Amino acid sequence: LRSLLSKKTPVQLGRMCYSSSSSVPTTKLFIDGKFIESNSSEWLDIHNPATNEVVGRVPKATQEEMLAAVDSCSRSFQSWSETSILTRQQVFLRYQQIIKDNIKELARTITLEQGKTLADAEGDVFRGLQVVEHACSITSLMLGETLPSITKDMDTYTYRMPIGVCAGIAPFNFPAMIPLWMFPIGMVCGNTYLMKPSERVPGCTMLLAKMLQDAGAPDGTLNIIHGQHAAVNFICDHPAIKAISFVGSNQAGEYIYERGSKNGKRVQSNMGAKNHGVVMPDANKENTINQLVGAAFGAAGQRCMALSTAIFVGESRDWLPELVERSKLLRVNAGDQPGADVGPLISPEAKGRVEHLIQTGVDEGAKLLLDGRSVQVKGYENGNFVGPTILTNVSPEMTCYKEEIFGPVLIVLEVDTLDEAIALINRNPYGNGTAIFTTNGATARKYTHGVDVGQIGVNVPIPVPLPMFSFTGSRGSFRGDTNFYGKQGIQFYTQIKTVTSQWKAEDATVSSPAVTMPT
Ligand code: NAD
Repeated sequence: LRSLLSKKTPVQLGRMCYSSSSSVPTTKLFIDGKFIESNSSEWLDIHNPATNEVVGRVPKATQEEMLAAVDSCSRSFQSWSETSILTRQQVFLRYQQIIKDNIKELARTITLEQGKTLADAEGDVFRGLQVVEHACSITSLMLGETLPSITKDMDTYTYRMPIGVCAGIAPFNFPAMIPLWMFPIGMVCGNTYLMKPSERVPGCTMLLAKMLQDAGAPDGTLNIIHGQHAAVNFICDHPAIKAISFVGSNQAGEYIYERGSKNGKRVQSNMGAKNHGVVMPDANKENTINQLVGAAFGAAGQRCMALSTAIFVGESRDWLPELVERSKLLRVNAGDQPGADVGPLISPEAKGRVEHLIQTGVDEGAKLLLDGRSVQVKGYENGNFVGPTILTNVSPEMTCYKEEIFGPVLIVLEVDTLDEAIALINRNPYGNGTAIFTTNGATARKYTHGVDVGQIGVNVPIPVPLPMFSFTGSRGSFRGDTNFYGKQGIQFYTQIKTVTSQWKAEDATVSSPAVTMPT
């Protein structure tokens, strides 16, 4: 694998995962331990967002191929679920080392297909790797409970058991981290897994699958299909699939939650966001400005935890000119160029949408303090670039406030009190992440208790929890009962068997049948 990965062009990496027999490399399917070329007649182009050149193609898997993938998952579940937990743990211990050894190569594939800077792409892999490392603690995480002597000679204990074939549907913005939220936790619990990566960035998942195979995951324990709606419907409908993990937009996530749940599956749906950063006048000014700029414009704003909305409380509004100056210093460039801070958006459509939302702000009365729409990147004139943009005087009725922009745009609202900030946040339909910047503990406590949001940072701009906790979300940002990773992730991928057993001493016999409930 190492030698495959050290080839020059990422799309040529892993001949197992890609075929270059045609002029443009094609992404393979991964079925029953083999990387196979799809027979599909329908293919989608994969573009480098910095140039819009086609760098690969991905098939819409045929019905037959999808059936073969899920059948493979079902067959391998029989043996994988019976494999000792120590053996499963060993696979993931080897896996985390292989990922660690290949972070840079995975990052190159991410930057090529997704556009983010190489340093940020390494972070994408690293945060996923942490979940794999956490999966290695499965011998503690899957422990059941026991209660001895619930009555004479009788004990009760529970087992956490795998649930069967599980499936993951991933978005484009974290090609490594989000698939790694899904199949490692599902599989280490003893389930087998069907992954459908985002059709826009499938390469990283293919390399991760090859690495998992090299780590010793038996054939059929992970299968990968590609596609869009038909593949999603297949996953929602196939009776062998017991649970679906989804991350992406509300449009897709609500649909998948409903269709999957109607079919009796467990579904966890992590969806869109509008994350507010509240700036108190007592905050550390220098740190706050730097953190806001990084969290608003990093990854070109294409993070579900990006701080896309700043609420300046009281006189902290005087810091706006410095915020603008600091934002201007960010270098917009192709993600693989040295010193790049802000890469391109995923597609020309995404760029058009972001530019349109900026214009709605202007048309509806906001003030454009920094306009990134005319940014030119030398040598990458065809890329989907938008530079850091700041809109102030924004009000909650404006389109740019109501919609998730998912681009390098910071919108700014101003209020007089913390209470107003909390009320504003709780009126917003989303509840994914938020942060407060303050040096006052009582203010921070009031805020953390008052806002109805999943992830809250106190002087931490993007508080994505480490995997011993769970990634949560409130209101419009999440559908389901149990969240991704942490204790809840283990709950999602397991079911409980409760055993009540009685072992009487040989001489203790039951004299008559018990026809009433025991009291
Ligand atoms: P997306 O919903 O377009 O795509 C996600 C997946 O769903 C893809 O695999 C895609 O093939 C499939 N899909 C797309 N449209 C569909 C439809 N109409 N019906 C069925 N399936 C469909 O999302 P995206 O653009 O790839 O990702 C960006 C979105 O994801 C943003 O809204 C962002 O906030 C969200 N996101 C949320 C989190 C979180 O944890 N809350 C994390 C990352 C991204």
